[in-house]
Amino acid sequence: MKITHDMHTHTTYSHGKHTIAEMVDQGRKIGLKAITISDHGRSHPMFGVRKRNFAKMRAEIDALNQKYDDIDIYLSVESNIIGANGDIDIKAEERKYCDYFLAGYHYGYIPASFLDIFRFAIPNYAAKVLPFLRKRVRVMNTSCYIKMMERYDIKIITHPGDKMPIDIDAVAKAAAKHGVLLEINPRHNHLSVEEIKIAMKYNGNFAINSDAHHRDALGCIGRAPEMVKAAGLPLERIVNITE
Ligand SMILES: [Zn+2]
Ligand SMILES: [Zn+2]
Repeated sequence: MKITHDMHTHTTYSHGKHTIAEMVDQGRKIGLKAITISDHGRSHPMFGVRKRNFAKMRAEIDALNQKYDDIDIYLSVESNIIGANGDIDIKAEERKYCDYFLAGYHYGYIPASFLDIFRFAIPNYAAKVLPFLRKRVRVMNTSCYIKMMERYDIKIITHPGDKMPIDIDAVAKAAAKHGVLLEINPRHNHLSVEEIKIAMKYNGNFAINSDAHHRDALGCIGRAPEMVKAAGLPLERIVNITE
């Protein structure tokens, strides 16, 4: 099993180690047909892409697409989930310059509103150490994912359920309805084998991505082939691989 289009990669525009050009070079070297540059959304004060850089990234990618005819290069952003109502940090620049959007939950973002600090961000941290909070947080997070898919045109949910507990059954049902891909991300162990088994009951599709932060990790899918096999997921439901 091999990735044909690595749809989730990071560069020096967030906290990746290599430039867009270096990642694209590596992609050509390992025979990718396509690569998506998806640095972190801007509400992350440390890692987020600066607003002014979207135009620059677009120009770099357009130039590389002109230069090479053996690889297609796309611009996306791994937007942050930042509020209980499914808010993510996609604004005018992202809409203007990106080809499509990814969304995932990360630590260290600036919440969507003052209220979200207390109802969303803190409870998700606290649920790590206070088991009695987990059930309530899981209900809130599940509704958050579903609202996000209703409100935004997202192509992929990255590492679903990582760092925030969700009801994968309800999320997979909504993802199938909205045509959103669920990511199998070996770097974060989500989806897990058990989660894939639950999600595949619905007719949505999946993507396996490297989430590379270093060029040597590009196209690497770790244990994903074994996981997919263990879950019994038919390979034609994974949109970006070849056997
Ligand atoms: Zn991520
Ligand atoms: Zn990522």
